[in-house]
Amino acid sequence: MNDLKQRYTYKELEEDLENLNIDFYSIGKSLKGRNLYAFELGKGKNHVFYNGAHHGLEWLTPPLLIKFAYDYCNALKSKKRLETFNICELYEKATIHIVPMVNPDGIEIAAKGSQQKNLILMNRGTNFHQTWQSNARGVDLNHNYNAGFDLCKSSEYALGITGPCATRYAGEFPESEPEVQAVCNYVRQNDFKLCIAYHSQGEVIYYDYNGFIPRNGWEICRELCHLSGYMPDKTEGIASYGGFKDWFIETYRRPAYTIEIGKGKNPLNAYQFDEIYKKNIKMLIMAAFLC
Ligand SMILES: [Zn+2]
Repeated sequence: MNDLKQRYTYKELEEDLENLNIDFYSIGKSLKGRNLYAFELGKGKNHVFYNGAHHGLEWLTPPLLIKFAYDYCNALKSKKRLETFNICELYEKATIHIVPMVNPDGIEIAAKGSQQKNLILMNRGTNFHQTWQSNARGVDLNHNYNAGFDLCKSSEYALGITGPCATRYAGEFPESEPEVQAVCNYVRQNDFKLCIAYHSQGEVIYYDYNGFIPRNGWEICRELCHLSGYMPDKTEGIASYGGFKDWFIETYRRPAYTIEIGKGKNPLNAYQFDEIYKKNIKMLIMAAFLC
């Protein structure tokens, strides 16, 4: 796969998917017409769903999922263990669905900036490389899901967010954004027992929605924390509503987690990648076993 000397963008993702030598498909298109790629690992009954890069600055989350896919496929082919785990067994037991880049337009804007006048205006003269989390029309995709949307909007007003911008604007109504529609439809078409949405940063795992914890949600969280060294955490304020995990937990009453990789300030530096991968690989394997 591509190395991580610079930001990992849509182009690197496409190259890596080609080189991975497995079937992949698109679950929909971004506002700017980029594909929202998906692929599956395994053929077992436990269907789980991992996604990355709802947010433009969180560029290390797609390569984390892609490296996992590479290592999984190599272990399967060579019948070798990955860490201490038997991947042939995992292949029979679980189907892991992966959408590595939910927000390719946001990733591009955060990596390369934008010449679009409306985006420059929205970004209030600050640097796209340090600020841009939203999609191409200034909606924060992880606030656009149908879970506590009204609460999300009132928190927004309290923070002085009145319209499209770099982060935390939830949009006009839930699922107004094509990227979120595509993810929700994909979830509706499958029977996912567990979901993980990868974000950065903080080394924590969010596991509840508004105080509600689905059955086994806490036990699995505790195990994931044990495997990674990350800490369980609860969201507060505006981060508590409108997210993918929130919507999945509320709608399906099954476990879903927001996992925050890395330490420091977004965007994270590539040098953290190896350590992040080491902390996450066991979780990526075991989450599909545990549910
Ligand atoms: Zn995020």
